[in-house]
Amino acid sequence: MRSIGHFINGVRVEGKSGRSADVFNPATGEVSARLALASAAELDAAVASALAAQPKWAATNPQRRARVFFRFVDLINQHMDELAVLLSSEHGKTVEDSKGDIVRGMEVAEFVCGIPHLQKGEFTEGAGPGIDMYSMRQPVGVGAGITPFNFPAMIPMWMFAPAIAAGNAFILKPSERAPSVPMRLAELMIEAGLPAGILNVVNGDKEAVDGILHHHEIAGISFVGSTPIARYVYATAAANGKRVQAFGGAKNHMVVMPDADMDKAADALMGAGYGSAGERCMAVSVAVPVGAETADRLVAALAPKVEALRIGPYTDAQSDMGPLVTRAAQQRVLSLIDKGVEQGAKLVVDGRGFKLQGYEDGYFVGGTLFDNVTTEMDIYREEIFGPVVSVVRAGSYEEALELPLRHQYGNGVAIFTRDGDTARDFASRINIGMVGINVPVPVPLAYHSFGGWKASAFGDLNQHGTDSIKFWTRTKTITSRWPSGLKEGAQFSMPTMA
Ligand code: NAD
Repeated sequence: MRSIGHFINGVRVEGKSGRSADVFNPATGEVSARLALASAAELDAAVASALAAQPKWAATNPQRRARVFFRFVDLINQHMDELAVLLSSEHGKTVEDSKGDIVRGMEVAEFVCGIPHLQKGEFTEGAGPGIDMYSMRQPVGVGAGITPFNFPAMIPMWMFAPAIAAGNAFILKPSERAPSVPMRLAELMIEAGLPAGILNVVNGDKEAVDGILHHHEIAGISFVGSTPIARYVYATAAANGKRVQAFGGAKNHMVVMPDADMDKAADALMGAGYGSAGERCMAVSVAVPVGAETADRLVAALAPKVEALRIGPYTDAQSDMGPLVTRAAQQRVLSLIDKGVEQGAKLVVDGRGFKLQGYEDGYFVGGTLFDNVTTEMDIYREEIFGPVVSVVRAGSYEEALELPLRHQYGNGVAIFTRDGDTARDFASRINIGMVGINVPVPVPLAYHSFGGWKASAFGDLNQHGTDSIKFWTRTKTITSRWPSGLKEGAQFSMPTMA
């Protein structure tokens, strides 16, 4: 049995805590590796190595720091196929989808190749007589990232790329479900020239997370995962005086106006609702057609496409989507579908009975489509995180707008229309962080920033873009006087430049 330990001070090390978790191949249900779960002592070793290496790294000029990322990007491209297959074997998504996961993370590494420019400070000459004032952005020291299972490449890179480029050392605590790619990324960073100790991977569960939240040497924490854990991480890390950003779950709506191109809208919904088996925080899980005729046309267009979904293991290049990540995730999604039926939604396509010959123990759920879903139902209120789309019919544009506006989550939302006025009004009035206009999954590119509103994100700065450089650095402002002579005598009133 393959065993996965930690990555500390530039090398893989075995776990010593005596605790471990199984890593599964979701397509077959077989155990593929045993993952060590870190103790507080192992976290301490990672932090000690980070602390020892960080000052020299911070003092390395930004062009040299950037060059590590140029080489890292090259290495990712060279290892793309290997990384994608490894990722799919633990997550279950298709290999093409895994490549998308890796590329979207790599784009953040490309973005931080611009760190010499991104980290530049500000300077005011002559702020007073002989006085200059300048601000610089210094790294926070040791940062940590706690990541979810669903993007094992992209989300770690969202975090460690800007943190490390800005001169920090970093502790990554990946998801227990898909730990192999984060470990490979750490190895590739070392191969790219990163000094040992600057990127450590500590595998683990709640014990490792709690260790990070309470560790007095960790200054900043970035979290992505489900909303209950995001709230907990945010509150605990803040109470311990750390800077923290914590991103949570989602329930993304797609409004379809009567004037929308129905074929394009239906295709968009298929990819956004069922791609990656719905296990994306930007997946569309609620379709909101406006008007009965639009709704009938949309459901009629979707139903045969959902029935025709090609569902299979990542080893089959023809698969549109794979299994869910764990048996528990599969059971949870199946029970939510049961609840939808019990609570009166119309089950148009039922994915509960899906079986694949040769993969009977895989965690598959077939594509599922509900119509006539209402706002009190659990399938509308909760994030399902599976291949289930709920159609909520709206009588008017205003009624459609109210749905995402009032939902607890605020990650992404989309509108499909040919009318510029409607699209503009929607983008302006909606209280959601990322909005797509005829774009179903509006994940911003690396040089813009990613983040939701409401219960989808806690903290004020987003992932990647210039926000990430702000998050991983702190401002120091220097006021200097040359020539240095101060006026005679002490000055007791507040100094001004007047
Ligand atoms: P999760 O919350 O179960 O786990 C996320 C991380 O928290 C993991 O590293 C895990 O080890 C740790 N963790 C789990 N339980 C914990 C506990 N009790 N105490 C401390 N740490 C704990 O999330 P997941 O199932 O891995 O990922 C899916 C969720 O992530 C979905 O809700 C999805 O919407 C969300 N997500 C959000 C975004 C975003 O940007 N908003 C992006 C991707 C995923």
